[in-house]
Amino acid sequence: MCRIILCIYFSLFSVSSFGWWDKEHQIVAIIAEKNLSHVAKKQVNILLNDDNLSDVANWADTIKSQSKWSHSKSWHYMNIDKNQNFASYKTIVGGDILWALNYFYQQLKKTDNPLKKRREALMFFIHLVGDIHQPLHAGKASDKGGNMVPVIWKNQSRITNLHKVWDGLLTQTDLSPAKVSRKIDNSSSSDRAVWQDASFQSWVKESSDLIENIYDFGDKNKGKKIINLGVQYQLINRPIAEKRMLQAGVRLAHYLNLAFEVKPPVTLAP
Ligand SMILES: [Zn+2]
Repeated sequence: MCRIILCIYFSLFSVSSFGWWDKEHQIVAIIAEKNLSHVAKKQVNILLNDDNLSDVANWADTIKSQSKWSHSKSWHYMNIDKNQNFASYKTIVGGDILWALNYFYQQLKKTDNPLKKRREALMFFIHLVGDIHQPLHAGKASDKGGNMVPVIWKNQSRITNLHKVWDGLLTQTDLSPAKVSRKIDNSSSSDRAVWQDASFQSWVKESSDLIENIYDFGDKNKGKKIINLGVQYQLINRPIAEKRMLQAGVRLAHYLNLAFEVKPPVTLAP
């Protein structure tokens, strides 16, 4: 019994707020690469020293454990309480994901910023666009975005949590990120046009709107302390997670294209 409690404790508290796992962030980045304009691709190459977007897509998660970057943890999510609606949400001290998306996008666009600052801004932006499309990054404050909801996934013996299910267990596959990106990219040009025409705030709202369905665990889990999820839950929710990755990739490319677009030289009227 003691071992089970320890196991639950370890699995609930050890992960806190990791975003989509490596593979999911890479899939978002690969989709974005394919949709970059020629100009944006060139600028991104310079800023990233010829690394690809997918090479740096997880950088922002890897630095969180360093004391120098511990203040960046809250930039990966925002939690909205039950009694709080989206409109009344107030940014937390130190900044949340919506603040960070706006901040780093502005820093990236500032051509008079030092190269290092723009590079960091780009790496944060690439990662955070992925994070905010994982719906539980705009989840409930009461259970820390699903981190405190214990889950048995597909009858595995180790107890995990709902956040981890959405971070990667739901979309787990043997296929490479490149293959998954091709498989899930079924968007039409009109889909892309609608998705691109959306603000950072609306991305958060979309994630937040999915929360109710995410907590629909079916009748067999009613009243249970540990939720048992498997094939049925995956069948319903995997397409939603894949669509969110696709939207994130298309939107990341769109915002980078806008950030680096060549503006016509200003001319004075005669
Ligand atoms: Zn993250």
